[in-house]
Amino acid sequence: MKRLTILGSTGSIGVSTLEIVAAHRDKFEIVALTGGKNLQLLKKQIEEFSPQVAAVISEESAIALRKMLPGVKTEILHGVPGMIAAACAEDATMVVAAIVGAAGLVPTVAAIRAGKDIALANKETLVTAGHLIMDMIKEQGVQLFPVDSEHSAIFQSLQGHRSDDVKRIILTASGGPFSQYPLDKLKEVSIADALNHPNWCMGRKITIDSATMMNKGLEVIEAKWLFDLPLDRISVVIHPQSIIHSLVEYVDGCVIAQLGVPDMKAPIAYALTYPERVATGVRGLDLTAIASLNFFEPDLQRFPALQLAYRAAGDGESMPAVMNAANEVAVDAFLAGKIKFTDIALLIEKTMSAHDAHSLGSIEEVMSADLWGRKKTRELLGL
Ligand code: NAD
Ligand code: MG
Repeated sequence: MKRLTILGSTGSIGVSTLEIVAAHRDKFEIVALTGGKNLQLLKKQIEEFSPQVAAVISEESAIALRKMLPGVKTEILHGVPGMIAAACAEDATMVVAAIVGAAGLVPTVAAIRAGKDIALANKETLVTAGHLIMDMIKEQGVQLFPVDSEHSAIFQSLQGHRSDDVKRIILTASGGPFSQYPLDKLKEVSIADALNHPNWCMGRKITIDSATMMNKGLEVIEAKWLFDLPLDRISVVIHPQSIIHSLVEYVDGCVIAQLGVPDMKAPIAYALTYPERVATGVRGLDLTAIASLNFFEPDLQRFPALQLAYRAAGDGESMPAVMNAANEVAVDAFLAGKIKFTDIALLIEKTMSAHDAHSLGSIEEVMSADLWGRKKTRELLGL
């Protein structure tokens, strides 16, 4: 029996994780859940999975949730201390980190320090604080399993091979809704157009990141830390069908890939049950129906955010945290209808150009860099 805590249980990854738990009650028990604004869904999850602890962002939400659950024994906490308490809940052995954005960093760090294995969806944790996190993982002797489909594909393609024999890894990207869109019309796309991902059904922030391809940029940085590879051994290729989830090329010229229909339940389950595999309800591949797969180079003029992520990754130190913060503010502004789609990358670029990268020796320093990036981007936005 694996005892799990899910940080961000009301999000897209959180819900898929609980679907796997519900299908394998004999294998999993839920110790703690955390959510944000969707109290109705969190209430339903608490009733179904009876966690010892639940945490929400605000005190008002905690009060409201307690009222919605009379007689329920779950302890309901709030704020960052509540998220940390949930992340550290004693009985859990694995924490699924599925909060969106840099808000996921502190609870994930708390879980590592409490000796929990981590199933990592929150890529922003590695983007902002990769060097500190990887050291912490080693020091604590815990395991870190990737949930992101590309990183899970690489992790799977590495099984049984020596990391010394890896020549490079190749991350696939769908290219999002705009990979073929007329370039001169990109500034006019609507919020609904940008949220209309061709292959994946995900939270709003990562869906916009997929449309700008900042998501792939964040994933390059995530891969650099997870697989301890320099940037020049991490390639990106656009593969519009999202069937090949990523590939590893070895020194002998052999390439090993992982394939499947695009459904996050497969990589989530692998992170939860590694090295075992369990039924997920994910459809098998019908190769003859797919018939052909396509690949092409990403166009950096079309996707300037991807180039910015390479630049931040090359600068290192505080730059990826600042870039990530700028992206979060810019994506929020786009989703609030305050800026155009093409302004997202422009704002990130301006914030990065105003920043002098410096080394980050602690999680507190990462959070200061994050805060600096947010403030600067808001200032540029006139907010
Ligand atoms: P989502 O927006 O659907 O869910 C986010 C969760 O985080 C919700 O439970 C929300 O309540 C919670 N949350 C939001 N702000 C918070 C805050 N300030 N404090 C505490 N909790 C907060 O997001 P998602 O699509 O499930 O993505 C979650 C993470 O997983 C992201 O880092 C994303 O990049 C990564 N990821 C997602 C997918 C996917 O298919 N959705 C795939 C790969 C990686
Ligand atoms: Mg991904």
